[in-house]
Amino acid sequence: MSKFTGYRCSLCGTEYLPGQIKYACPKDGGNLDVELDYEGIRKKYQPEDITSRRDFSLWRYEPLLPVNPPKGESTPLHLAGWTPVFGLSTLAEKIGLNHLWLKDESRNPTASFKDRASAIVVARAQDQEAEIIVTASTGNAGAALAGMSAAIGQKAIIFAPKSAPPAKVAQLLVFGARVILVDGTYDEAFDLTIKAADAFGWYCRNTGYNPFTAEGKKTAAFEIWEWWMEIHRAWHEQGSPLENHPPLTVFVSVGDGNIISGIHKGFKDLLKLGWIRQMPRLIGVQAEGSAAISHAFHANTEEIKPVSASTLADSISVDLPRDGVRAVRAARETNGMYITVPDSEILKAIAELGQVGVFAEPAGATAYAGLAKAVANGEVKSDDPVLVLNTGSGLKDVKSAMQAVREAPIIEPTLEALKRIV
Ligand SMILES: *Cc1c(COP(=O)(O)O)cnc(C)c1O
Ligand SMILES: [Zn+2]
Repeated sequence: MSKFTGYRCSLCGTEYLPGQIKYACPKDGGNLDVELDYEGIRKKYQPEDITSRRDFSLWRYEPLLPVNPPKGESTPLHLAGWTPVFGLSTLAEKIGLNHLWLKDESRNPTASFKDRASAIVVARAQDQEAEIIVTASTGNAGAALAGMSAAIGQKAIIFAPKSAPPAKVAQLLVFGARVILVDGTYDEAFDLTIKAADAFGWYCRNTGYNPFTAEGKKTAAFEIWEWWMEIHRAWHEQGSPLENHPPLTVFVSVGDGNIISGIHKGFKDLLKLGWIRQMPRLIGVQAEGSAAISHAFHANTEEIKPVSASTLADSISVDLPRDGVRAVRAARETNGMYITVPDSEILKAIAELGQVGVFAEPAGATAYAGLAKAVANGEVKSDDPVLVLNTGSGLKDVKSAMQAVREAPIIEPTLEALKRIV
């Protein structure tokens, strides 16, 4: 753990020692980047030391993480990450791409990308001997914290808006977390959680506040890196080496901006270690009605102005994104960009992904909706290799899923009734 050397504020650049501070920069509230001893890591490890590991979870990247994996038997917490990548050639052909893949984060233990962050935060809490962890959540972050905590007997308290989809609330309750539903927005639950953590001495996981969430989310970048080397090898064997292809483009749905910032951090770690030479292009997709980060990106500023969020994609419905500045930079510094999509296109994307066997919740399908739009607008070209993330399972929000499809007919159990409709 000595590889964890401290924090640096993403706004003012002030550096802090690991034990000096817990959450955001006291000077300006800026998000803190976790700093590692890159020199030391590079001396000790080669990429092969990581890629040859038999641990098929995010813990295979332990040498690049600021926490120790919790000890003990293999639990859901020990198995977060290492999600599969599928080829999507049918959809690629449909929208006009030559190379399209999907990384399916719904395969995580609690069925969303958030398990990556929660696994690392729970490990940090154990390092700190925190008795209780608390988080505000639109649903998935809470479900992930509740699940990862339950896995190793850690106590958790979750604040969620009372409008959270029932499946997510059910997860929180079944995992045995103390659940408090707030009669207000996610943003109001967020502020209340910080006050409560302060008042009661709880350890706060809030997204875009606790610096360790991004450290968990960066592990997706490491997995993409390993997977991309495999593609590289395959192309090389086919006589079409990587040099013949444009760089990889990654599509991510964005709410608070912590996933895209975390993925960016992962690639920056790899760049600092000299293990990659080129970053993939990171493209963030927001719902039109919840697009504060996209607005800032297109206004060419880092000033994030809150919106009054309205979208059926509850996981990315945020008035004031809590990791907006780093999220703007993630796109800007990688030659990426932001795209917004209306809810109608999100529903369409749910249906299209479903037809190739992927069941996404609205926020999960948003990245694909953004990709379809980007190809139609010419912002992504047919020979750009594209990886799109599905960040959450469709089972999380069945009500929205049903809006994406036609209802099934109900018939009498007779052949005559059947003949009338087939
Ligand atoms: C949280 C979440 C997102 C967005 O992540 P941010 O860090 O808030 O940008 C996207 N999709 C799903 C399913 C999520 O749960
Ligand atoms: Zn600062």
